[in-house]
Amino acid sequence: MTIRLLPETVVNRIAAGEVVERPAAAVKELVENSLDAGARHIDVVVRDGGQTFIAVVDDGNGMTAEELALAVERHATSKLSDDDLTNIRTLGFRGEALPSIGAVSRLTIISRTKSDGTAWTITVEGGRKGKPKPAAHPVGTRVEVRDLFFATPARLKFLKSPRTELAHVEETIQRLAMAHPEVGFTLSDGARTLIRLNPIAGDLFVARLDRLAQIMGREFAENSVAIEAERDGIRLTGHAGLPTLNRANAALQFLFVNGRPVRDRLLVGAVRGAYREFLAHDRHPLVALFLDVPPALVDVNVHPAKTEIRFRDSGLVRGLIVGALRYALAEAGHRAATTVASAALGALRPGSPPPARGGAALASTVPRGLAEAEAHYHAPLPRFDSRPSARVVADAGQEPAPADYPLGVARAQVHETYIVAQTADGIVIVDQHAAHERLTQERIKKALHAGGVPRQGLLIPEVVELDAAAVSRIVTRAAELAALGLVVEPFGAGAVVVRETPAALGEADVQGLIRDLADEFAEYEDSVALEKRLDEVCATMACHGSVRAGRRLNADEMNALLREMEATPHSGQCSHGRPTYVELKLADIAKLFGRR
Ligand code: ADP
Ligand code: MG
Repeated sequence: MTIRLLPETVVNRIAAGEVVERPAAAVKELVENSLDAGARHIDVVVRDGGQTFIAVVDDGNGMTAEELALAVERHATSKLSDDDLTNIRTLGFRGEALPSIGAVSRLTIISRTKSDGTAWTITVEGGRKGKPKPAAHPVGTRVEVRDLFFATPARLKFLKSPRTELAHVEETIQRLAMAHPEVGFTLSDGARTLIRLNPIAGDLFVARLDRLAQIMGREFAENSVAIEAERDGIRLTGHAGLPTLNRANAALQFLFVNGRPVRDRLLVGAVRGAYREFLAHDRHPLVALFLDVPPALVDVNVHPAKTEIRFRDSGLVRGLIVGALRYALAEAGHRAATTVASAALGALRPGSPPPARGGAALASTVPRGLAEAEAHYHAPLPRFDSRPSARVVADAGQEPAPADYPLGVARAQVHETYIVAQTADGIVIVDQHAAHERLTQERIKKALHAGGVPRQGLLIPEVVELDAAAVSRIVTRAAELAALGLVVEPFGAGAVVVRETPAALGEADVQGLIRDLADEFAEYEDSVALEKRLDEVCATMACHGSVRAGRRLNADEMNALLREMEATPHSGQCSHGRPTYVELKLADIAKLFGRR
């Protein structure tokens, strides 16, 4: 046996295996370097998903010729000035990224500092380092990576399609951009600009929400509350979506620790706990949370990729997140409170106290607009409404007796959303949209088993814009979707076009439907047939059908809905696990009035 020290190139290639797992990881390291260098603008270009070409250009501090030569050496960093691993305030600190990338690709760096009259360039090819040479470049740094993994063919084989790798790059940049609204970002694939985020100055909450809206969607800005809380030196800020804004997966839940995007199970659990009472178990809220933790209380040196962390006291962090989220949601006025009967009773009870303020120093800032909405919510209800809020439909005399039916007889429709029915010993309130959704789902399933789902052509085919990964998830399932009545085709790189929809849906919300399906498919393994997930897929479809809240129903329509519910299995819950109706027994109502 001969033990020998491995040559540096081999060591660097081994490190590269962990540091640059795929093109997106190289982009992450390079963009982090740009952020650490104080850049205000960072432009990224990737070709072929980053496999043949990556360029990251910044206007940061730059490097001198000597610094360039050192930067590509292993374990060379400017970021650990006092060798103190418990005091890391930068994104980088391991001094591994550049030598690792250089070991497995053709790397060129051009850089210039403010005080230098000229720029310098250096190249590393498969680990072979060149010498710094003069070059022309403005202040800042340009890093180019060609033929990533050419020196490690085994890794090359594991790369996914350029489209998939590009989607990972996109996500990487979006995550970093969320934590740094003061920095502008662009991403191009060489032909098109895929991301353009201008730097946003000013108040952090405002700037951040603006940036989050650009990445997570406008509706997040409009349907979220600001979070601000602090405990034992750990500060939590960010924005949390109202429960009514929810998705089929947890992909839009983001956690940042000291400006670093991290994936941590702790977040998933804490968010689940905080929203438990507000949301069905298979729906996920949108959140972006930012922790500022004293560096000594967190360890980022867990994995070379630096996306994992360990908290000194994870219970404290979890408690902070759960507490702050719950408090903010309660403050937002239960705008999406659950509809279970007990909650309804609680709300009906006169003089219910406002939510208790926790002992911890929790504060919540409600952004403009929301503050108004909140004030409106808490304002006393007007005593007299000029419009009748309940339409009384029962036509006494010739109606069937309530005792004949479990869900009773429709007495009124209120707010064009709820049907109030009288049963033998109480009242039933039906959420007409939820109920209709459940019935539609069952109809589609039945039609499928009976040989085919009737479809209807759209007068004008609808184009739905999606990111590349979502397009490919929908397109691979096109044949299966057609069997369910939904005819979809690819439409350029970033969109699909919908030509026909299941007839049972009526006038469907096509945009929402396709987006939710794309979310859902992300959760399925490629090999799983949609038929195995029929309930979920039908549920998603039904959810975007036409009888939503807000449609007027006449007595016959309401009673027909009640009768169909009685005849349909599982109609007591809508497809998302929310109840389709609640029942209040006379005895409970009597209690409300102190009659018992
Ligand atoms: P680390 O970021 O962990 O220090 P890297 O290998 O990523 O290690 O980078 C090595 C060093 O090169 C950094 O510490 C920094 O001094 C310098 N450097 C890298 N990229 C840039 C850049 N875009 N602008 C200025 N300096 C940079
Ligand atoms: Mg680095």
